This record gives sequence, structure tokens and C-alpha cells, in this order.
Amino acid sequence: MTIGSVHSWDLSIGVDGPGTRLVLFTAGCPLRCQYCANPDTWQRRNGVETSVEEVMTRVRRYRRLFDATGGGVTITGGEPLLQPAFTGEVLRACAAEGIHTALDTSGFLGARATDEMLADVGLVLLDIKSWNPATYRRVTGKELVPTLAFAERLARLSRPTWVRFVLVPGLTDAPDNVEGLADFVATLPNVERVDVLAYHRFGAAKYAELGLPYRLEGVAEPTDEQLATARNAFASRGLVVT
Ligand code: SF4
Repeated sequence: MTIGSVHSWDLSIGVDGPGTRLVLFTAGCPLRCQYCANPDTWQRRNGVETSVEEVMTRVRRYRRLFDATGGGVTITGGEPLLQPAFTGEVLRACAAEGIHTALDTSGFLGARATDEMLADVGLVLLDIKSWNPATYRRVTGKELVPTLAFAERLARLSRPTWVRFVLVPGLTDAPDNVEGLADFVATLPNVERVDVLAYHRFGAAKYAELGLPYRLEGVAEPTDEQLATARNAFASRGLVVT
């Protein structure tokens, strides 16, 4: 029986896929995004060992809610593809029971997802942290290329995808960064929508609790105008933007 490291659970509406979502946060992430709101999910050892069967027992309790709202299960993190066997089995089990699934990933470990696994995913929430490779490295501490390769693979496999991009003033909002990403996303026919998300400071207190430096100290959340400019970069290329 495959065991995964699960950080926590949540219920959400509207942001993590269609309908009401039961959100499973896996523990462990290879990235270190400056704006990460959940640094407590970074270490795999901070999760609770949980079997796929235990996951499915919990998932089944929400079956009626999923049916009533057109919702389902969203696996996020952390980074779900850090535990590909566990994530793949949960996706398989949900798909076998006709439960809609979404996989929220940075794509950095996209090579760990098999085509079979991706066939069980109803929707990929692909977080592309930046377009400019140097900015991507500054934001995440890792390289951009694997994420772009994964995005192109999802397009080849025609997997429904929502792209998510976090706007941080002074970090990710340079016009070449936003417009370059918009140009790229516009080439992907499987992308159904783009979420331009405002950087927020909700996670700042967790850094203090964990004894970690908060590197965006003093950075303001984006204004409505800054958000509108970024959203327009995507919308003007024919993409559906929220
Ligand atoms: S990929 Fe997600 S969980 Fe990992 S550091 Fe970035 S924002 Fe945090």
C-alpha cells in the first residue's frame, strides 16, 4: 500500500478547480518561492504518513458535495510530484470512481508524471512563476526550463490546464516578464484560463514562527491598476483571464 506524506486538508470554492474542492496538501517542495504562503509545507518530514486508502476514505465522504457542485479533489502542496507514486495512485483511485481531479503543480518535476498519470488528471493548475529565466531563478531558486517543457507536454497531450501567475511588484511584474509569459501561454491550445493572482502577505507570520527570513519584507501587494495591466497582457492575446 502506497504511503504519502500529507501536510493538511482544506475545502475551497472557485480557486482550486471547478465546484467545491477537497484540497489535499502534500508535504515537501523543491522550490523556495519568495512569496510562498505555505513554507510549513516545504519539508516532507512535516507531513503525516497517510495511505491512499485513508485518503480515499476521506474523499468519499464528500462525494455528494462534489456531485452537487461539479467539484472534486485537488492535490496541491508543497509539490505533489515530489511523491509521484502516491499522487498517481490517488489520481487513479479518484478517476476510477468518477471523481474529478485537479493537480496543482509548479511543473518543475513534470518529468516525474507519466502520461498514464496525466490521463487521470481532469485539470492541471500549472503555476508558472515567471518567464524570464533569471527572474524565475530569483523567485524560486530553481530553473525555468522543466516547467516550460511540462507546459508544452500538457499541450501535446491536450490536458485541460489553468495557468497561474503571481504578480509581485518589483519582482515578477516587469513588462517583459509578463508579456513574454503571455506570448508563450497563448501558444498553448489546452489552456482554458489564466489566473493572475495578487501577491499577499498572509504567509509572513509563518516565516517568523519557523525562524526563516521573509525576503519580501517591505514589498507592497499589487494595486488594482497593476493587476489590471498584467491581466490585460493575457486577455489581449485572446486568453480567458480571471
Ligand atoms: S512551489 Fe508552491 S509550495 Fe513550493 S515554494 Fe513555491 S509557492 Fe511554496
